[in-house]
Amino acid sequence: MRKLLLLFFGLLFIQNSIAQTSYILCGKLIDTKSGNISSEKTIVVKGNKIADVIDGYIMPKGGNLIDLRDKVVMPGLIDMHVHLEMEYDNKTRIKKYILNEADVAYNSVKFAELTLKNGFTTVRDLGGSGVNISLRNAINAGDIPGPRVFTAGKSLATTGGHADPTNGSSRKLIGNPGPKEGVVNSVEDAKKAVRQRYKNGADCIKITATGGVLSVAKSGDNPQFTIEEIKAICETAKDYGMHVAAHAHGDVGMQRAIIGGVKTIEHGTYMSDKTMELMKKHDAYLVPTITAGKEVAEKAKIAGFYPEIVVPKALAVGPQIQGTFAKAYKKGVGIAFGTDAGVFKHGVNGKEFGFMVEAGMPAMETIQSATITNAMLLKMENEIGQIQKGFYADIIAVDNDPTKIISTMESVVFVMKNGVVYKK
Ligand SMILES: [Zn+2]
Repeated sequence: MRKLLLLFFGLLFIQNSIAQTSYILCGKLIDTKSGNISSEKTIVVKGNKIADVIDGYIMPKGGNLIDLRDKVVMPGLIDMHVHLEMEYDNKTRIKKYILNEADVAYNSVKFAELTLKNGFTTVRDLGGSGVNISLRNAINAGDIPGPRVFTAGKSLATTGGHADPTNGSSRKLIGNPGPKEGVVNSVEDAKKAVRQRYKNGADCIKITATGGVLSVAKSGDNPQFTIEEIKAICETAKDYGMHVAAHAHGDVGMQRAIIGGVKTIEHGTYMSDKTMELMKKHDAYLVPTITAGKEVAEKAKIAGFYPEIVVPKALAVGPQIQGTFAKAYKKGVGIAFGTDAGVFKHGVNGKEFGFMVEAGMPAMETIQSATITNAMLLKMENEIGQIQKGFYADIIAVDNDPTKIISTMESVVFVMKNGVVYKK
């Protein structure tokens, strides 16, 4: 009897361990490292990791079978520039004064889920109020669905700069934001602000090296930090294991940011040939955000959508971004896929692929940019961005071969993150 019982529990145990193993049958599988697409593969997933990738279809009895034989499978996508706390609309300016942190948090939960369900299993959040840090923690704890988040917390700016949270406010509300709130005006402030972000729980640092489109301020491209301030930010960030991303439209501010040591230039709108060479020399990457450029150019034509001071900036900057990307790509500047979702609707990040292809980057390279390049920049190149044994089981699928129909990237049909299926 005792032997029988042992056998029974033994069988139960085997059953359970098989049930925890998923077998994903892939009609086509994209190898992001080589850029090749192979046919008829099986991915074996155990727990949150990829246990094996096998030739042919394997369907053991009792295993959890996921049939993607008529799909194209690839690793989960990585967007290097999103804002999960907000989604810009014609009420954004007033919302800044009426929403509490809890309101922002509830919104961000919705945006995070949308992002994940559209195939983006990892994102870098480049600036909000700091709620994005709590959002990351809740996702990591498994409490809410969302992508793996690397967050900058609150962006750093100088007084009146693009990310000064009090721009365009009544004097009664302006106060005197300092390094704690992300506003710096000296080398000392710069160090303090970075250390404060570290204390708050940020993973990386974002600076607004030049003026920007959507801030309530006149210039969309003037330099807004001294090179000494940027150097202090980058050196301090390095001490804490954080890289620095710089929002930049104007060429002078961009050059200061690259020389100062930032890793990525966001937007890069008026980047000159000389600055492109500087990018290559310093191994800095351009995050194109073409979708955001198209969005602001379009929405600026709707009367009242943006504050008046924003409209001329949106009309000037927006249409430039795709052309600059095309030039930078041709010149051999490293490209890190990123969209600026939040400036437009969350979940449509996949549109960026089509805009990149339209500008001359081959489809496979756009996918490599959104996987292996971004994984490397996040120092996770041995954990995400590829479908390989030992990597996290971040796996997505689309209906068509994206090298033939790039718009298929806008309709992701299957999403697994960390071995958990979120969409099928
Ligand atoms: Zn942004």
